Amino acid sequence: QSSLIIENLQQAVQLFGIGEQVSVVQTGCFGFCEKGPIVKIMPDLTFYTEVKPEDAEEIVREHIVAGRKVERLLYTDPVSGIHIEDSAHMSFYKKQLRVALRNCGLIDPENIEEYLAERGYEALSNTLLESPEVVIDKIKRSGLRGRGGGGFPTGVKWEIASKVAGEPKYVVCNADEGDPGAFMDRSIMEGDPHSVIEAMAVCGYAIGANHGLVYIRAEYPLAVHRLQTAIRQAREVGLLGKDILGSGFDFDIEIRYGAGAFVCGEETALIHSMEGERGEPTLKPPFPAQSGYKGKPTNVNNVETLANVPAILLKGAEWFASIGTESSKGTKVFALAGKINNVGLIEVPMGTTLREVIFEIGGGIKNGKKFKAVQTGGPSGGCLTEKHLDMLIDYDNLIAAGSMMGSGGMIVLDQDDCMVSVAKFYLEFTLDESCGKCAPCRIGNRRLFELLERATKGKAEEEDIDNLINMSNVIKDTALCGLGQTSPNPVLSTMDNFMEEYRAHIIDKR
Ligand code: SF4
Repeated sequence: QSSLIIENLQQAVQLFGIGEQVSVVQTGCFGFCEKGPIVKIMPDLTFYTEVKPEDAEEIVREHIVAGRKVERLLYTDPVSGIHIEDSAHMSFYKKQLRVALRNCGLIDPENIEEYLAERGYEALSNTLLESPEVVIDKIKRSGLRGRGGGGFPTGVKWEIASKVAGEPKYVVCNADEGDPGAFMDRSIMEGDPHSVIEAMAVCGYAIGANHGLVYIRAEYPLAVHRLQTAIRQAREVGLLGKDILGSGFDFDIEIRYGAGAFVCGEETALIHSMEGERGEPTLKPPFPAQSGYKGKPTNVNNVETLANVPAILLKGAEWFASIGTESSKGTKVFALAGKINNVGLIEVPMGTTLREVIFEIGGGIKNGKKFKAVQTGGPSGGCLTEKHLDMLIDYDNLIAAGSMMGSGGMIVLDQDDCMVSVAKFYLEFTLDESCGKCAPCRIGNRRLFELLERATKGKAEEEDIDNLINMSNVIKDTALCGLGQTSPNPVLSTMDNFMEEYRAHIIDKR
């Protein structure tokens, strides 16, 4: 539908003879999926929502030629009923702060000129005049932590990789986003691929690497196309390749395709997959910084982490560190999905509450139903309930509440959702995605799933409650990698918060 809208807009611009003055530009995602497709008129910022291909001619004729807004396509505030013209005044956007997503919906991702006009590659050119130590220090002082799930301090990771001896070194971008309902990294790559490329080059300079690899799932064809285009354009203007900007620093990037295995998001499995081996995790240490791709020092960062880097270097470590909470700096992108009015992609400062995210930005629960829980952290995370709504979202608070940040999936559940079935859904996902290398994950999760299946079929017995808890704890303690160690989390957190539902399956239906 979007391509047809663009085509019709282009035709209308020609029809009204204003092709010289008006350009139709396809950008990345605006985030407000619930109200898409979106057409934004620049420079007056009018934001048209739920646009259909047949609306294109009216937008050009009325808005651009006659200077009248097309009222029926403006967003209507659900509370006041007032038409809102500019997205900055919409409840969906008001509390958002776009750092990683700063260029998504703003620039044409297939045109390097537009990225350059937004100060693109300025962070890299400044970096090349500084020492690697200074660059690493800036990233450390910013407080940036890994956005892929682990939350490890990025500057410390770069410092470790910079100090390890070994040649060549590699910078890997983990673009193997696999959580159900998550599309943060895809949106960044589709909407602002140069920010990822620029950050990889900065990282390469900081740690002493001349090779970059993006590991991306092949199911993201648009993201792949835009990354390929961006890499080619960056090479053409001397921002990738030999002797970047005459600095003597060489850096280039290759793309490696994943086949969509969730476990390949784990660093060691990802590296094995890139080497052409089975995508299975291995024990750490050695960490990739010591022995990664082809046994060489390798720094792995995820897409969102990297997308923050140019903004930090341009605006300063102190600016970034001033956003967020004591332990979690900056912003976080979340994919809001499930029983929520405003499904979409959002970016909020760390320290925003779940209530603000779900009821203000998200517009509350669909069909006036009651909020029951929100699953964060994907299959490795857990569910948060009413009592957590005023908790400040950050890495540590989420863990203390029995969940985790993960990569940013947020699935909202309402009064009609059965929490035992929710736990079973996530466990089934893990079972499908387990690589099968170690018994606790391969066999333990199968047994755990069977227990949950018995419960949802009303065949569970009283002792199954203890069996579920014990089996979960054994898997957590003994599985080889993070996927297995965290796989029982949805079971344990739903048991913590909704034990009565587990009991209801046993007692009422036996
Ligand atoms: Fe594979 Fe699961 Fe073991 Fe990880 S925990 S190595 S995914 S079987």
